[in-house]
Amino acid sequence: MSEYQPRLDDMTFTLNHVAGLEAVSKLNGYQHADPVTVGTILEEAGRFFSEVIAPLNRIGDVQGSVLTEDGTVRTPDGFKEAYQKYLESGWASAQLPEEWGGGGLPYMIGVAIQEMFKTANMAFALAPSLTHGAVEALERHGSEDLKTLYLEKLVSGEWAGTMNLTEPEAGSDVGALRTKAIKQDDGSYRLFGTKIFITWGDQDLTENILHLVLARTPDAPPGTRGISMFLVPKFILDENGRPGERNDLKVLSLEHKLGIHASPTCVLSYGEQGKGAVGYLVGDEQEGMRNMFTMMNASRVGVGMEGVAIGERAYQHALQYARERVQGRPIGADARKSVPIIEHPDVRRMLLTMRANVEAMRSLLYVTAGEADHMFHADTEERRRLASDRLALLTPIVKAWCTDLGVELASIGMQVHGGMGYVEETGAAQYLRDSRIAPIYEGTNGIQAVDLVLRKLPVQNGAVVAGLMAEMAEVGDKMGQHEELNVFQHELSSALEGLIETSTWLGHRLAAGDIQAALAGASPYLRQFGTVLGGWLMGTAAVEALRAPSGLDPGFLSEKVNTARFYGEQILPTANGLIASVVGGSGLLENATF
Ligand SMILES: Cc1cc2nc3c(=O)[nH]c(=O)nc-3n(C[C@H](O)[C@H](O)[C@H](O)COP(=O)(O)OP(=O)(O)OC[C@H]3O[C@@H](n4cnc5c(N)ncnc54)[C@H](O)[C@@H]3O)c2cc1C
Repeated sequence: MSEYQPRLDDMTFTLNHVAGLEAVSKLNGYQHADPVTVGTILEEAGRFFSEVIAPLNRIGDVQGSVLTEDGTVRTPDGFKEAYQKYLESGWASAQLPEEWGGGGLPYMIGVAIQEMFKTANMAFALAPSLTHGAVEALERHGSEDLKTLYLEKLVSGEWAGTMNLTEPEAGSDVGALRTKAIKQDDGSYRLFGTKIFITWGDQDLTENILHLVLARTPDAPPGTRGISMFLVPKFILDENGRPGERNDLKVLSLEHKLGIHASPTCVLSYGEQGKGAVGYLVGDEQEGMRNMFTMMNASRVGVGMEGVAIGERAYQHALQYARERVQGRPIGADARKSVPIIEHPDVRRMLLTMRANVEAMRSLLYVTAGEADHMFHADTEERRRLASDRLALLTPIVKAWCTDLGVELASIGMQVHGGMGYVEETGAAQYLRDSRIAPIYEGTNGIQAVDLVLRKLPVQNGAVVAGLMAEMAEVGDKMGQHEELNVFQHELSSALEGLIETSTWLGHRLAAGDIQAALAGASPYLRQFGTVLGGWLMGTAAVEALRAPSGLDPGFLSEKVNTARFYGEQILPTANGLIASVVGGSGLLENATF
């Protein structure tokens, strides 16, 4: 079975020539992240994740995490030791704030490091992803006391964070949650309620777990307005700041799932013993939903990354199989011997479809991460504001477009394996099973599409979307200077026209108050938007590769142009095929009898 080889050439090319690493490394506080240093960092990280973490992917799937008789979770063989090495190597904190002991790398680089972790072992990587989200939420909204007590250990990875929103009656509609938080005389709270589907809700990797829990105080108004956020530690800290008494919270069960078996998905009961779980308010009462969005937005980008990661891993696996599997003679050729399947045009199409989509998604992921860096570190208010608007717009697209594609690519990867893909031994099936959760959790992809159309499209009367489209059109102009990009240029221009058409149509529906019609087209619109963004960024990559930056392997550059052209000439045109679905309105959906 193939193991994971980080594609550092594509990652560094994308960072440097598509996503604007140089501009990010000039931002205040990031000067140590110059492109040369970043190249070395990624090489080291790649070695760690491919050698230490990737080999545990299969055993994690087969053994899974289990709930032991004493009510705690035991992770698969090798996970504990690998997690210790992860802490010692410093990768746990590379992108986290220096003030609390982190490496202070730009978020863009943190994303590239995290991508390698997720490609190596998606189920394992979910644990640190949630810890990173908890760090951000606590840093931005926690009191000084909470920060002092908890942040250093979270940043180092010695303690882990989790995110607790979902309850049996509160899934997409978080505002329906019922967990109660009752204030005590000492300012702390006692929590009572049940949370379901909590990722890494318990484990044996860290000495403490900090649950960020959404709950409702007794007199809070209904809906999302009445929600507050609490930090609830598994072990309450003693007077020395060390994990002490066990808090009143319990893992009731673990879910039996399709994939990501190593990631324990817990049903957690707070206040099981009647005392109530001790929790501390993060931010103000009834500000919980807003504050949790800090964690959720970072997590949404992190989940979008899973589409890139699983697509990459499935691609590498399929590529190796296609080189080795001998089957069939090339039709029309005077060949008596069977050939490796990689020689058949349809197999080559599958492989190139995988590679082109992965590279397009990776570009969007890094560009989006770069906006987060500009949002916090840019010199001018104007640039910070633009970055904030762009990040808000791109986040639902990264989450949904990339994760839908991740599933499709994992499925294509299985197809490359033929029947051997459908049996477990080859490992291709695991990627498909693992990938399937990503369009569901962290706000289903349907909810992301609603967010894009109802909240993001109308920002500044559509000016944020229009500004981005104008920037996309500029790349088309640059492509015009290269004859081999003529077809791609034409397709990009046509796809942009299509996106303008659907965006305008949706804007008019919203303005007319015809919300149902707009919502009916939301998911195909998000897909169209993602596909066109991919075209813009692969076009950028093609132009940059043709410029032949010095020091880069000519073989890699010509391969990049070919892959980008495949995206532009054969994948991008599918975007306009979605126009009819976006502007079709809600009539047929409403008329349907189910
Ligand atoms: C493995 C796993 C791990 C998870 N990890 C966590 C975690 O760590 N923390 C946590 O809090 N939660 C977690 N979740 C929960 C996850 O975020 C929810 O399952 C998800 O938000 C969907 O909620 P639901 O399952 O109740 O589905 P529902 O909300 O019941 O949705 C069912 C379907 O209806 C659609 N739908 C619902 N409402 C709307 C609407 N308004 N407009 C359009 N479509 C709609 C959805 O898109 C979906 O297709 C996890 C879930 C799983 C399975």
